[in-house]
Amino acid sequence: MLQLRPNCENCDKDLPPAATDARICSYECTFCAECVETVLLNVCPNCGGGFVPRPIRPAAERRPGVSLARQPASTQRVHLKWDRAELANFARTACDIPPEQR
Ligand SMILES: [Zn+2]
Ligand SMILES: [Zn+2]
Repeated sequence: MLQLRPNCENCDKDLPPAATDARICSYECTFCAECVETVLLNVCPNCGGGFVPRPIRPAAERRPGVSLARQPASTQRVHLKWDRAELANFARTACDIPPEQR
């Protein structure tokens, strides 16, 4: 199941479950749209993949046992281990290659 992580791993902005500016890679690395566009250049600094908008888990239980309350968001904040210069260097290695060709 998709982990709904609580924050941007770069700038630490809160990204609650209903945030429309949360972005994730295929490994669920989670960032805000601003960081993806201006810092990461659509290159995940952990895996090199691209990002998509994070789906929003419904708050309402329209099927039994399935809702945000039943499968709550993660509360464990995650932080990158790379500094800004390293991020920029890494982004440059792949930002000109579409994610589907990386
Ligand atoms: Zn951010
Ligand atoms: Zn990733």
